[in-house]
Amino acid sequence: MSKVIIIGAGGVGNVVAHKCAQLPEIFSEIILASRTVSKCEAIAQDIEARHGRTIRTAAIDADNVAETTALLLAEKPELLINVALPYQDLTLMDACLAAGVHYMDTANYEPLDEAKFEYKWQWAYQDRFKEAGLTALLGSGFDPGVTNVFCAYAQKHLFDEIETIDILDANAGNHGYHFATNFNPEINIREITANGRYWEEGEWHEVAPMSVHQVYDFPVVGEQDAYLLYHEEMESLCQNIKGLKRIRFWMTFSEKYLTHLKVLENIGMTSIEPIEFKGQLVQPIEFLKAVLPDPASLGPRTKGKTCIGCDIVGTKDGKKKRIFIYNSCDHEECYKEVSSQAISYTTGVPAMIGAQMILRNLWKEPGVWNMEQRDPDAFMEELNLRGLPWEVIELPLEG
Ligand code: NDP
Repeated sequence: MSKVIIIGAGGVGNVVAHKCAQLPEIFSEIILASRTVSKCEAIAQDIEARHGRTIRTAAIDADNVAETTALLLAEKPELLINVALPYQDLTLMDACLAAGVHYMDTANYEPLDEAKFEYKWQWAYQDRFKEAGLTALLGSGFDPGVTNVFCAYAQKHLFDEIETIDILDANAGNHGYHFATNFNPEINIREITANGRYWEEGEWHEVAPMSVHQVYDFPVVGEQDAYLLYHEEMESLCQNIKGLKRIRFWMTFSEKYLTHLKVLENIGMTSIEPIEFKGQLVQPIEFLKAVLPDPASLGPRTKGKTCIGCDIVGTKDGKKKRIFIYNSCDHEECYKEVSSQAISYTTGVPAMIGAQMILRNLWKEPGVWNMEQRDPDAFMEELNLRGLPWEVIELPLEG
């Protein structure tokens, strides 16, 4: 029986709040706090209507450490679930330390003025969380999150040694718009317009954005165009999976999506450099976010499925083998359950499970942790129970 505070009432916050509300025996009291309190209230009403549970709401500016600390001291939750934006990670970690509250998020810190995400800023909190006897769990979404746990599970049960990991993320859903991003457009576009990067034999290799491509035959959604991107879970996995020789990350995009993105990029609309407009400084990408469809509005329109998983090659009992461990999720089913499309769903469900792992004392250990550093078994069981069932298939070895 634990009290939690969820910070952020966007697409992911909505799913986390719904999923926590479905488990009153673990999440006995829920507060949903965000910058725009009316969004929290709308979610609270939906939860009341669907599950007959009352959750409380609050307005908070998570950039303000003193304000957040005061709210935490007044409410005394056991855990803070950060599903605001990556820009708030450090201020929320500071507030948790000041108020003695465990911390969890789904995306690593990114400075507002530099399109660069790295764990170094959050790993630097290791000693402070240890000394305070508090747990910080980083990246408990799908990717990062479930993908890290899939790798930990493969390392524990399926292989003696892992050689290569390819993480593949396919969204074969269709929302009917010419162009829209499935989660926060600013975060999404910053991620995919940056150079791609992968890790091999102890070194990072950089490639131009969207310049490395393969057609991958996914279970459930079939052949899709996948592009090599940098993604944050590789930074910790290359350190924590023993014997690893190479790790890459691929995301699928349609030709239509890439054409729109190219045009927006070419005319400067994806830039984070502020420009002066009518006497005001405006970041083009922020303006673009304002004209694009709100990801939360895609839910009722999106049809089709996602498939996200890890293609892993390694050895077991002296024999080389290759597996794909994955989940596939249906946009319309997700919408029926929690009024959200599958991208927010596949992030929000693991956030709720990560929270459970801490509150059930399974993953509670002072310090700052990436997901693959925890025992995967209970988390994997929960995925099957809470809406994200997974499968493992054997694939032929290449070459
Ligand atoms: P949204 O933009 O839909 O929602 C973000 C929410 O955070 C909004 O309610 C926003 O408030 C609130 N917020 C922003 N700044 C502040 C602030 N200073 N103080 C308080 N609240 C604030 O994003 P998503 O729900 O799509 O994504 C949430 C997080 O999940 C992001 O960090 C994203 O990177 C991560 N993510 C992780 C994935 C994974 O698999 N690991 C996949 C997808 C997303 P307001 O509405 O007032 O602006």
